[in-house]
Amino acid sequence: MHASDQDKKREWKLQQRQHAQAAFPISSSLLESLFEAVDACVEESGCNHSLRFTMQWIAEHKQPEKPILGWLAEHGGVCDCEVVANAADHWEQNR
Ligand SMILES: [Zn+2]
Repeated sequence: MHASDQDKKREWKLQQRQHAQAAFPISSSLLESLFEAVDACVEESGCNHSLRFTMQWIAEHKQPEKPILGWLAEHGGVCDCEVVANAADHWEQNR
């Protein structure tokens, strides 16, 4: 691979990351707190195929429900365990 191709690839990756970051519904540190809380709850109580722990965190932290749930769904987070598995993974890679 030519150096210029690598540069282009790196630039493209950076752009993808910036796009992903721009789409985060709340700050990265809040997302971290959300994923940590949901992860701990799922470990302890398991997932019942709903977003109960996610919703609980949103209510406790008075965060905007619609954009967060929309963003999570877009990245495969349609229940608590998938929030931790899929959406958290997407966040980890782009934070
Ligand atoms: Zn689940």
